[in-house]
Amino acid sequence: MKRTAVVSKELCVSCGACAKVCPRGAIAVYKGMYARVAKEKCIGCGLCARTCPASVITVVTADE
Ligand code: SF4
Ligand code: SF4
Repeated sequence: MKRTAVVSKELCVSCGACAKVCPRGAIAVYKGMYARVAKEKCIGCGLCARTCPASVITVVTADE
C-alpha cells in the first residue's frame, strides 16, 4: 500500500520548509500560497510532516 503526504492547504503558512527537506523533490509551494505534494514522487517517508512548523502535513495510505 502506497503512503503519501497530504497538506491541509488552508492551514499551510507557505514557509517552504517541507519542500527543502523532501528527498524526492515532491513538494512545491503552489503560487506562494500553500504546499502541494506530487503524489507520484512521494515515498511517504514523513520527513516533511516532522519538519512542518505548522504541523499541517499528515502521511496517509493512498488508494492507488
Ligand atoms: S513524505 Fe517524504 S517523499 Fe513524501 S512529500 Fe514528504 S518528505 Fe517528500
Ligand atoms: S512546512 Fe508546512 S507550513 Fe511550511 S510550506 Fe510546508 S506544509 Fe506549509
